[in-house]
Amino acid sequence: MASYEPDNIFAKILKGEIPCHKLYEDDDTLAFLDIMPRTEGHTLVITKEQAPDLFGITPQGLGKLMAVVQALAPKIKTAVGADGVLIQQFNGAAAGQTVFHLHVHILPIKDGVALGPQEGGMAEPDDLAMTAEKIRTSL
Ligand code: AMP
Repeated sequence: MASYEPDNIFAKILKGEIPCHKLYEDDDTLAFLDIMPRTEGHTLVITKEQAPDLFGITPQGLGKLMAVVQALAPKIKTAVGADGVLIQQFNGAAAGQTVFHLHVHILPIKDGVALGPQEGGMAEPDDLAMTAEKIRTSL
């Protein structure tokens, strides 16, 4: 099993050491906008439990994470006017994982709009703030 590095970027977000555009939080999960969005409304849902990937969490913890993904995804899709939702989750660098704290991507997809590249560049903070506000009002 992969080891957990407690100073990873998502651990710092959970500790409030670096900011995020927060959309939702409960006792077990935090959801915020991806700073390098591949689509408008690209959201990350992370566990508060310290797990590096899908294989480092209990089935119960995973169930709570996925329940939040299931609840948020259709609302985010509606908020940004998308037509579908892609759910992605990477395990290991070889599979494209770059932050080793368990997280699930919610990617709202609009008909005819191509998915942007992974790590395609940082979004403007004002654009992220506007998107976050639009989503929060519909949660
Ligand atoms: P993954 O490839 O599944 O590990 O994805 C990690 C994601 O975290 C990428 O899509 C990054 O754009 C995103 N990311 C990295 N740092 C931050 C940050 N400080 N705030 C929000 N998203 C981030």
